[in-house]
This record gives sequence, C-alpha cells and structure tokens, in this order.
Amino acid sequence: MTACAFCERPLVCDSCQTEYSPRTEDEYGALSWAEQAITCSHCGQVLTCHWCKTPYDGQLQPESGERSAST
Ligand SMILES: [Zn+2]
Ligand SMILES: [Zn+2]
Repeated sequence: MTACAFCERPLVCDSCQTEYSPRTEDEYGALSWAEQAITCSHCGQVLTCHWCKTPYDGQLQPESGERSAST
C-alpha cells in the first residue's frame, strides 16, 4: 500500500478508483515532495488523491521547505 503524502490514507486515483502504486523508486520519492507531476498508471490522468482531492500535479509546495536527498 502507498499512503497519500497529505492525508496518509491509501492513495487511490480519484479518476479511476485504482490504488496507486509507484513503479520505480523515483516515483515513490516524488510522492513525498511532489515537485513533478505524477500520472496514474491505470488511466493516465494526473493522480489526484481520492480522499483529500489533492492533485499530484507538480504544483504543490512541500510542507517543509526541505527536500530530502534523492539518490
Ligand atoms: Zn490524500
Ligand atoms: Zn487512475
């Protein structure tokens, strides 16, 4: 299960109701600091959390201004 970075519920695509699971570590890392858009691998829409309706469109400001190092 992947948790939404914002509401911490299981991350489900609001467009197609499919639970999102990142295919790569990069995609997983992108969830936590949301600087790049994430699209649903099932329907191809920009991923929007079904619960809190937050779009992972790359326009979000991270809660702390600090980026975690990505390898
Ligand atoms: Zn959420
Ligand atoms: Zn979808």
